[in-house]
Amino acid sequence: MTQINKISVFQKTLPLTKPYRLSGGRLLFEELDSTFVKIETNNGYIGWAEGCPWGHTYLPAHGAGIRAAAELLAPALIGMNPCRIEHINDRMDLTLPGHLYAKSPFDIACWDIFGQSTEMSIADLLGGCYEEPTPVASSIPTGSPEQMLESIQEYRDRGYYTHSVKIGADSGVDTRRIRHLETHREDGELIWYDVNRAWLPAEAIQVMNGVLDLSVFFEQPCETLEQCATVKERTTHPISIDERLETVLDMQRIVHHGIGEIVNIKISRVGGLTRARRIRDIGRAAGMKFIIMDTGGSVIADTATQHLAQSIPRSARIATWLCQDMLSVDTAPDVGARNNNGDSQIPEGSIGLGVTPDEEILGQPVAVYE
Ligand code: MG
Repeated sequence: MTQINKISVFQKTLPLTKPYRLSGGRLLFEELDSTFVKIETNNGYIGWAEGCPWGHTYLPAHGAGIRAAAELLAPALIGMNPCRIEHINDRMDLTLPGHLYAKSPFDIACWDIFGQSTEMSIADLLGGCYEEPTPVASSIPTGSPEQMLESIQEYRDRGYYTHSVKIGADSGVDTRRIRHLETHREDGELIWYDVNRAWLPAEAIQVMNGVLDLSVFFEQPCETLEQCATVKERTTHPISIDERLETVLDMQRIVHHGIGEIVNIKISRVGGLTRARRIRDIGRAAGMKFIIMDTGGSVIADTATQHLAQSIPRSARIATWLCQDMLSVDTAPDVGARNNNGDSQIPEGSIGLGVTPDEEILGQPVAVYE
Protein backbone atom coordinates (compact mmCIF):
# COMPACT_ATOMS: atom_id res chain seq x y z
CA MET A 1 0.00 0.00 0.00
CA THR A 2 1.19 3.49 -0.79
CA GLN A 3 2.15 5.28 2.42
CA ILE A 4 3.39 8.79 3.16
CA ASN A 5 6.87 8.51 4.66
CA LYS A 6 8.30 12.03 4.37
CA ILE A 7 6.92 15.58 4.17
CA SER A 8 9.16 18.58 3.45
CA VAL A 9 8.04 22.19 3.77
CA PHE A 10 9.68 25.07 1.87
CA GLN A 11 9.20 28.84 2.16
CA LYS A 12 9.65 31.27 -0.74
CA THR A 13 9.03 35.01 -0.83
CA LEU A 14 7.38 36.01 -4.10
CA PRO A 15 7.94 39.71 -4.95
CA LEU A 16 5.22 41.40 -7.03
CA THR A 17 6.47 43.14 -10.16
CA LYS A 18 4.52 46.25 -9.07
CA PRO A 19 3.00 47.28 -5.73
CA TYR A 20 -0.72 46.44 -5.74
CA ARG A 21 -3.66 48.16 -4.05
CA LEU A 22 -6.77 46.11 -3.39
CA SER A 23 -10.30 47.46 -3.60
CA GLY A 24 -10.77 50.56 -1.62
CA GLY A 25 -7.07 51.21 -2.13
CA ARG A 26 -6.82 50.45 1.57
CA LEU A 27 -4.56 47.43 1.38
CA LEU A 28 -1.09 47.58 -0.17
CA PHE A 29 0.78 44.45 -1.28
CA GLU A 30 4.43 44.25 -2.38
CA GLU A 31 5.32 40.57 -1.89
CA LEU A 32 3.65 37.27 -1.03
CA ASP A 33 4.82 34.63 1.46
CA SER A 34 4.41 31.22 -0.15
CA THR A 35 4.75 27.71 1.30
CA PHE A 36 5.52 24.61 -0.77
CA VAL A 37 4.71 21.11 0.47
CA LYS A 38 6.49 18.03 -0.88
CA ILE A 39 5.03 14.66 0.12
CA GLU A 40 7.04 11.48 -0.55
CA THR A 41 5.79 7.90 -0.34
CA ASN A 42 7.34 4.51 0.45
CA ASN A 43 7.05 3.50 -3.23
CA GLY A 44 8.69 6.54 -4.78
CA TYR A 45 5.85 8.94 -5.58
CA ILE A 46 6.45 12.63 -4.91
CA GLY A 47 3.51 15.05 -4.66
CA TRP A 48 3.85 18.83 -4.68
CA ALA A 49 1.57 21.73 -3.84
CA GLU A 50 1.73 25.40 -2.91
CA GLY A 51 -0.21 27.46 -0.36
CA CYS A 52 -0.03 31.23 -0.66
CA PRO A 53 -2.41 33.67 1.04
CA TRP A 54 -2.79 37.09 -0.57
CA GLY A 55 -0.73 38.77 2.18
CA HIS A 56 -2.05 38.69 5.74
CA THR A 57 -4.59 41.54 5.61
CA TYR A 58 -6.97 40.24 2.92
CA LEU A 59 -8.41 37.13 4.62
CA PRO A 60 -7.86 35.43 8.00
CA ALA A 61 -4.80 33.60 6.64
CA HIS A 62 -1.05 34.21 6.58
CA GLY A 63 1.99 32.51 5.13
CA ALA A 64 3.63 31.63 8.43
CA GLY A 65 0.30 30.14 9.56
CA ILE A 66 0.65 27.34 7.01
CA ARG A 67 4.09 26.44 8.33
CA ALA A 68 2.90 26.56 11.95
CA ALA A 69 -0.04 24.29 11.07
CA ALA A 70 2.37 21.95 9.27
CA GLU A 71 4.07 21.23 12.60
CA LEU A 72 0.83 19.52 13.67
CA LEU A 73 -0.55 18.28 10.35
CA ALA A 74 2.55 16.72 8.77
CA PRO A 75 3.40 14.26 11.61
CA ALA A 76 -0.27 13.20 11.71
CA LEU A 77 -0.18 12.22 8.02
CA ILE A 78 2.97 10.08 8.11
CA GLY A 79 2.02 6.44 7.44
CA MET A 80 -1.33 7.30 5.80
CA ASN A 81 -2.36 6.36 2.25
CA PRO A 82 -2.35 9.65 0.29
CA CYS A 83 -4.83 8.26 -2.26
CA ARG A 84 -7.52 7.99 0.43
CA ILE A 85 -7.89 11.75 0.35
CA GLU A 86 -11.13 11.95 2.34
CA HIS A 87 -9.32 10.04 5.13
CA ILE A 88 -6.42 12.52 4.85
CA ASN A 89 -8.87 15.40 5.31
CA ASP A 90 -10.59 13.66 8.24
CA ARG A 91 -7.21 13.23 9.94
CA MET A 92 -6.31 16.88 9.35
CA ASP A 93 -9.67 17.99 10.82
CA LEU A 94 -9.16 15.81 13.90
CA THR A 95 -5.63 17.14 14.34
CA LEU A 96 -6.43 20.82 13.81
CA PRO A 97 -10.06 21.99 13.43
CA GLY A 98 -10.53 24.91 11.04
CA HIS A 99 -7.45 26.53 9.44
CA LEU A 100 -8.71 25.51 6.01
CA TYR A 101 -6.09 27.45 4.05
CA ALA A 102 -3.27 25.68 5.90
CA LYS A 103 -4.67 22.26 4.94
CA SER A 104 -4.95 23.06 1.25
CA PRO A 105 -1.36 22.28 0.12
CA PHE A 106 -1.40 18.92 1.95
CA ASP A 107 -4.67 18.01 0.25
CA ILE A 108 -3.44 19.05 -3.21
CA ALA A 109 -0.08 17.21 -2.88
CA CYS A 110 -2.08 14.04 -2.11
CA TRP A 111 -4.16 14.59 -5.28
CA ASP A 112 -0.86 14.89 -7.19
CA ILE A 113 0.25 11.49 -5.86
CA PHE A 114 -3.19 9.94 -6.49
CA GLY A 115 -2.91 11.08 -10.11
CA GLN A 116 0.61 9.73 -10.53
CA SER A 117 -0.34 6.36 -9.06
CA THR A 118 -3.31 6.03 -11.44
CA GLU A 119 -1.59 7.77 -14.41
CA MET A 120 -4.43 10.29 -14.59
CA SER A 121 -4.51 14.08 -14.40
CA ILE A 122 -6.13 15.68 -11.37
CA ALA A 123 -8.77 17.16 -13.71
CA ASP A 124 -9.66 13.63 -14.82
CA LEU A 125 -9.77 12.39 -11.23
CA LEU A 126 -12.13 15.26 -10.38
CA GLY A 127 -14.65 13.83 -12.83
CA GLY A 128 -13.14 14.25 -16.27
CA CYS A 129 -11.14 16.97 -17.99
CA TYR A 130 -13.11 19.25 -20.34
CA GLU A 131 -10.48 20.08 -22.94
CA GLU A 132 -11.30 23.73 -23.71
CA PRO A 133 -8.89 26.19 -22.05
CA THR A 134 -10.12 28.77 -19.54
CA PRO A 135 -9.96 32.56 -20.03
CA VAL A 136 -7.44 34.12 -17.63
CA ALA A 137 -8.64 37.22 -15.78
CA SER A 138 -6.32 40.12 -15.13
CA SER A 139 -6.42 41.73 -11.69
CA ILE A 140 -6.76 45.47 -12.17
CA PRO A 141 -5.88 47.49 -9.04
CA THR A 142 -7.98 50.42 -7.86
CA GLY A 143 -6.95 53.80 -9.28
CA SER A 144 -8.33 56.65 -11.34
CA PRO A 145 -10.51 55.60 -14.31
CA GLU A 146 -7.64 56.53 -16.66
CA GLN A 147 -5.01 54.60 -14.65
CA MET A 148 -7.26 51.56 -14.58
CA LEU A 149 -7.75 51.64 -18.35
CA GLU A 150 -3.95 51.83 -18.68
CA SER A 151 -3.60 48.70 -16.53
CA ILE A 152 -6.15 46.93 -18.73
CA GLN A 153 -4.15 47.95 -21.80
CA GLU A 154 -0.98 46.42 -20.32
CA TYR A 155 -2.83 43.12 -19.92
CA ARG A 156 -4.31 43.40 -23.43
CA ASP A 157 -0.73 43.63 -24.70
CA ARG A 158 -0.18 40.16 -23.17
CA GLY A 159 -3.28 38.73 -24.84
CA TYR A 160 -5.72 39.06 -21.93
CA TYR A 161 -9.36 39.61 -22.87
CA THR A 162 -10.92 39.04 -19.42
CA HIS A 163 -10.52 41.55 -16.60
CA SER A 164 -11.36 41.56 -12.91
CA VAL A 165 -11.46 45.23 -12.01
CA LYS A 166 -11.13 46.20 -8.35
CA ILE A 167 -13.47 49.01 -7.30
CA GLY A 168 -15.02 50.08 -4.00
CA ALA A 169 -12.92 53.06 -2.90
CA ASP A 170 -15.66 55.66 -3.27
CA SER A 171 -19.13 54.90 -4.58
CA GLY A 172 -19.29 58.20 -6.54
CA VAL A 173 -15.99 57.51 -8.29
CA ASP A 174 -16.93 53.86 -8.82
CA THR A 175 -19.72 54.80 -11.23
CA ARG A 176 -17.23 56.89 -13.24
CA ARG A 177 -14.74 54.02 -13.26
CA ILE A 178 -17.34 51.56 -14.53
CA ARG A 179 -18.65 53.91 -17.23
CA HIS A 180 -15.14 54.82 -18.40
CA LEU A 181 -14.02 51.20 -18.70
CA GLU A 182 -17.27 50.04 -20.34
CA THR A 183 -16.97 52.84 -22.91
CA HIS A 184 -13.50 51.56 -23.80
CA ARG A 185 -14.30 47.85 -23.58
CA GLU A 186 -13.26 46.06 -26.78
CA ASP A 187 -15.32 43.51 -28.71
CA GLY A 188 -15.02 40.06 -27.18
CA GLU A 189 -13.79 41.41 -23.84
CA LEU A 190 -15.33 40.53 -20.48
CA ILE A 191 -14.92 42.88 -17.53
CA TRP A 192 -16.35 42.26 -14.09
CA TYR A 193 -16.31 44.62 -11.15
CA ASP A 194 -14.90 43.15 -7.95
CA VAL A 195 -15.71 45.14 -4.83
CA ASN A 196 -13.91 42.82 -2.39
CA ARG A 197 -16.51 43.60 0.35
CA ALA A 198 -15.78 47.36 0.30
CA TRP A 199 -19.37 48.68 -0.07
CA LEU A 200 -22.11 48.93 2.50
CA PRO A 201 -25.46 47.77 1.09
CA ALA A 202 -26.62 51.38 0.57
CA GLU A 203 -23.58 52.12 -1.63
CA ALA A 204 -23.92 48.86 -3.53
CA ILE A 205 -27.58 49.50 -4.32
CA GLN A 206 -26.81 53.09 -5.39
CA VAL A 207 -23.93 52.23 -7.74
CA MET A 208 -25.44 49.07 -9.21
CA ASN A 209 -28.81 50.67 -9.87
CA GLY A 210 -26.96 53.66 -11.38
CA VAL A 211 -25.59 51.47 -14.19
CA LEU A 212 -28.72 49.48 -15.02
CA ASP A 213 -28.15 50.16 -18.71
CA LEU A 214 -24.87 48.17 -18.64
CA SER A 215 -24.57 44.41 -18.94
CA VAL A 216 -22.03 43.82 -16.19
CA PHE A 217 -21.74 41.76 -13.03
CA PHE A 218 -20.36 42.49 -9.58
CA GLU A 219 -18.29 40.40 -7.20
CA GLN A 220 -18.64 40.33 -3.41
CA PRO A 221 -20.21 43.79 -3.09
CA CYS A 222 -20.46 43.68 0.72
CA GLU A 223 -18.87 42.02 3.73
CA THR A 224 -21.44 39.38 4.73
CA LEU A 225 -23.78 37.03 2.88
CA GLU A 226 -26.71 38.76 4.61
CA GLN A 227 -25.62 42.14 3.25
CA CYS A 228 -25.15 40.65 -0.21
CA ALA A 229 -28.66 39.16 0.04
CA THR A 230 -30.06 42.62 0.82
CA VAL A 231 -28.29 43.99 -2.27
CA LYS A 232 -29.53 41.06 -4.38
CA GLU A 233 -33.15 41.80 -3.46
CA ARG A 234 -32.88 45.42 -4.62
CA THR A 235 -30.75 45.09 -7.77
CA THR A 236 -30.84 43.11 -11.02
CA HIS A 237 -27.17 42.59 -12.01
CA PRO A 238 -25.74 39.10 -11.49
CA ILE A 239 -23.65 38.81 -8.32
CA SER A 240 -20.56 36.65 -7.78
CA ILE A 241 -19.76 35.53 -4.24
CA ASP A 242 -16.06 35.24 -3.45
CA GLU A 243 -14.62 35.88 0.03
CA ARG A 244 -17.75 34.71 1.85
CA LEU A 245 -17.72 31.30 0.22
CA GLU A 246 -15.58 29.10 2.46
CA THR A 247 -17.64 26.03 3.26
CA VAL A 248 -20.28 23.73 1.80
CA LEU A 249 -22.75 25.33 4.24
CA ASP A 250 -21.97 28.78 2.77
CA MET A 251 -22.65 27.35 -0.68
CA GLN A 252 -25.97 25.91 0.47
CA ARG A 253 -26.98 29.31 1.87
CA ILE A 254 -26.00 31.10 -1.36
CA VAL A 255 -28.11 28.67 -3.39
CA HIS A 256 -31.04 28.46 -0.97
CA HIS A 257 -31.40 32.23 -0.59
CA GLY A 258 -30.54 33.06 -4.22
CA ILE A 259 -27.73 35.42 -3.16
CA GLY A 260 -25.65 35.00 -6.32
CA GLU A 261 -25.58 33.35 -9.73
CA ILE A 262 -21.78 33.05 -9.86
CA VAL A 263 -19.28 31.73 -7.34
CA ASN A 264 -15.56 32.38 -7.19
CA ILE A 265 -13.98 29.31 -5.60
CA LYS A 266 -10.46 29.97 -4.32
CA ILE A 267 -8.95 26.57 -3.65
CA SER A 268 -6.89 27.36 -0.56
CA ARG A 269 -9.63 29.46 1.04
CA VAL A 270 -12.00 26.48 0.98
CA GLY A 271 -9.30 24.07 2.20
CA GLY A 272 -8.08 22.31 -0.95
CA LEU A 273 -9.42 20.40 -3.94
CA THR A 274 -11.42 17.85 -1.94
CA ARG A 275 -13.59 20.53 -0.37
CA ALA A 276 -13.64 22.62 -3.56
CA ARG A 277 -15.06 19.61 -5.39
CA ARG A 278 -18.03 19.39 -2.98
CA ILE A 279 -18.78 23.09 -3.46
CA ARG A 280 -18.44 22.69 -7.23
CA ASP A 281 -20.96 19.85 -7.24
CA ILE A 282 -23.59 21.85 -5.35
CA GLY A 283 -23.02 24.78 -7.69
CA ARG A 284 -23.34 22.57 -10.76
CA ALA A 285 -26.62 21.13 -9.47
CA ALA A 286 -27.89 24.66 -8.84
CA GLY A 287 -26.94 25.99 -12.28
CA MET A 288 -24.21 28.35 -11.08
CA LYS A 289 -21.37 29.76 -13.15
CA PHE A 290 -17.81 29.51 -11.82
CA ILE A 291 -14.64 31.50 -11.46
CA ILE A 292 -11.80 29.26 -10.27
CA MET A 293 -8.73 30.80 -8.65
CA ASP A 294 -6.41 30.53 -5.71
CA THR A 295 -5.59 33.31 -3.27
CA GLY A 296 -2.07 33.72 -4.67
CA GLY A 297 1.12 31.86 -5.48
CA SER A 298 3.36 30.86 -8.35
CA VAL A 299 2.85 28.44 -11.24
CA ILE A 300 2.41 25.49 -8.84
CA ALA A 301 -0.73 27.02 -7.27
CA ASP A 302 -1.89 28.33 -10.65
CA THR A 303 -1.66 24.87 -12.22
CA ALA A 304 -3.83 23.30 -9.50
CA THR A 305 -6.53 25.89 -10.27
CA GLN A 306 -6.50 24.91 -13.95
CA HIS A 307 -7.24 21.28 -13.03
CA LEU A 308 -10.31 22.26 -11.00
CA ALA A 309 -11.42 24.75 -13.67
CA GLN A 310 -11.23 22.11 -16.41
CA SER A 311 -13.35 19.71 -14.36
CA ILE A 312 -16.23 22.12 -15.08
CA PRO A 313 -17.86 22.33 -18.55
CA ARG A 314 -16.67 25.38 -20.49
CA SER A 315 -20.21 26.77 -20.65
CA ALA A 316 -20.29 27.10 -16.83
CA ARG A 317 -16.70 28.38 -16.52
CA ILE A 318 -16.13 32.14 -16.63
CA ALA A 319 -12.46 32.60 -15.83
CA THR A 320 -9.39 31.71 -13.86
CA TRP A 321 -6.37 33.75 -12.70
CA LEU A 322 -2.58 33.37 -13.04
CA CYS A 323 -0.97 35.08 -10.06
CA GLN A 324 2.40 34.15 -11.64
CA ASP A 325 1.90 36.99 -14.15
CA MET A 326 2.19 39.50 -11.27
CA LEU A 327 5.43 38.05 -9.83
CA SER A 328 9.12 38.61 -10.53
CA VAL A 329 10.03 35.03 -9.50
CA ASP A 330 9.16 31.82 -11.34
CA THR A 331 9.35 28.62 -9.28
CA ALA A 332 9.18 26.23 -12.27
CA PRO A 333 10.52 28.09 -15.32
CA ASP A 334 8.83 27.27 -18.63
CA VAL A 335 6.58 24.47 -17.34
CA GLY A 336 3.09 24.24 -15.83
CA ALA A 337 -0.04 26.21 -16.73
CA ARG A 338 0.76 29.49 -18.48
CA ASN A 339 -0.98 32.39 -20.20
CA ASN A 340 -1.48 31.59 -23.86
CA ASN A 341 -3.06 34.61 -25.51
CA GLY A 342 -5.47 35.18 -22.64
CA ASP A 343 -6.31 31.52 -21.98
CA SER A 344 -4.75 28.84 -19.81
CA GLN A 345 -5.02 25.08 -19.42
CA ILE A 346 -3.50 22.14 -17.60
CA PRO A 347 -0.06 21.10 -18.90
CA GLU A 348 -0.26 18.76 -21.88
CA GLY A 349 -0.26 15.11 -20.87
CA SER A 350 -0.59 15.98 -17.17
CA ILE A 351 -0.17 13.07 -14.82
CA GLY A 352 -1.24 14.24 -11.36
CA LEU A 353 -0.58 17.98 -11.12
CA GLY A 354 1.73 17.93 -14.14
CA VAL A 355 4.36 20.30 -12.76
CA THR A 356 7.00 20.30 -10.02
CA PRO A 357 8.92 23.31 -8.69
CA ASP A 358 12.65 23.72 -9.21
CA GLU A 359 14.09 22.88 -5.77
CA GLU A 360 17.18 24.99 -6.44
CA ILE A 361 14.89 28.01 -6.69
CA LEU A 362 13.02 27.05 -3.49
CA GLY A 363 16.22 26.48 -1.48
CA GLN A 364 16.51 24.19 1.52
CA PRO A 365 13.31 23.03 3.26
CA VAL A 366 12.41 24.91 6.45
CA ALA A 367 11.09 21.71 8.01
CA VAL A 368 11.21 17.97 7.27
CA TYR A 369 8.87 15.42 8.89
CA GLU A 370 9.41 11.65 8.60
MG1 MG B 1 -12.80 38.67 -5.89
